[in-house]
Amino acid sequence: MSAERTYSAPAPTKARRNRIAQRSCIACRRTAEKTALVRFVRDAQGIVGIDATRRRAGRGAYVCAKGACFEKARKGRMFERALRVAIGTEDYKRLETEFLDFLTLKMPEEQ
Ligand SMILES: [Zn+2]
Repeated sequence: MSAERTYSAPAPTKARRNRIAQRSCIACRRTAEKTALVRFVRDAQGIVGIDATRRRAGRGAYVCAKGACFEKARKGRMFERALRVAIGTEDYKRLETEFLDFLTLKMPEEQ
């Protein structure tokens, strides 16, 4: 009977949506809006893949949409460090294919 407390949803904050989060490339350390970078994610099974939606759960690492940065991150084992997982040669081959596909499909002509 008593309605002493009324629960109202907190007012949506407008400012939150307008800001695009900044992330840095693990290879060259350049900071950019996260939409300009490619996100790699390690899932619950420890599998690393490209997160095209940038919303997948799991530990993530960002790389510029450039083959050079992917190469640098691979050679320097920066993915392993950032994602805290071991990545084998076969996995890297798959990742490279996924990465290059992603660049052509999602980020054409980003020079
Ligand atoms: Zn970079």
